[in-house]
Amino acid sequence: MTLPASLLLLLLLGLSRAVPLPEQDADDERQDERPDEPEDEPEDEPEDEPVEIGARILSTNNGTKEFLLEGDLKAPIMRSAMKCWHGDDRCLWPKGADGLVTIPYALSGQFVGGQRRTIESGLASFHGVSCIRFVPRGNQRDFLSIENQSGCFSTLGRQGGRQVLSLSRRGCVHRGIVQHETLHALGFKHEHNRSDRDSYVRITWGNIQRQMVYNFEKADTNNLGVPYDYSSIMHYGKTAFSMDGYKQTITPIPNPKVQIGQRQTLSDRDIEKLNKLYKCDTTGKAEKTC
Ligand SMILES: [Zn+2]
Repeated sequence: MTLPASLLLLLLLGLSRAVPLPEQDADDERQDERPDEPEDEPEDEPEDEPVEIGARILSTNNGTKEFLLEGDLKAPIMRSAMKCWHGDDRCLWPKGADGLVTIPYALSGQFVGGQRRTIESGLASFHGVSCIRFVPRGNQRDFLSIENQSGCFSTLGRQGGRQVLSLSRRGCVHRGIVQHETLHALGFKHEHNRSDRDSYVRITWGNIQRQMVYNFEKADTNNLGVPYDYSSIMHYGKTAFSMDGYKQTITPIPNPKVQIGQRQTLSDRDIEKLNKLYKCDTTGKAEKTC
């Protein structure tokens, strides 16, 4: 393909995405974490109902007016997200002289009680396993603004200035979702978009909602020398964007029984990649949830 032709193709792809994206339930994994105390979260679901976390990201995003990529990834406005993966450190959060990557955040006052604890716990979960440190914002220019907007979504990598990470109180305030969206903000795409994914999963294009096909495009990702990870918190479930909600769109190969789409906690390889991307001295292991 000639250079002008590829530029035109990229432009057309960009234009084709510039529409509001309706979404629907997708993942098939269940999350055992119970919602927080009802008095703290008056708008949350009843405590005794298990929550399909992966599906919740997509269903909560249904109808959002934000321009979302891959279900919950907000399009970067000022730059190509791909630069994140080609050694351009501007999309990474900077490391201080202390060897720590300190990321300021501001938590909307719309989150109360248990919601604040859940979000802060999700952020703090990165501290024990990496050199990432989330701190309440002072007057820093670049920061994560964690807001109760309509959906669970984030930009990819550091955008500069105030950068919204949305966790709708209706369905997004769960530790695994906080971790998932935070990994987007740290620069990670979805696992099934990896450049080598065709060796690990089969995409059944005919089962995908037509307007959602772009969610399954492969990306020229930097895989950081870490093997494909079915257990990544960034992997979508088997029925993501399925036409009828039941037919599989992503099937692990050669063993279709392998579980994908968990939203419980960071996997060991999620942590390994995070430490490699940010060149952390520490290496951590996934905490065990109970
Ligand atoms: Zn996502």
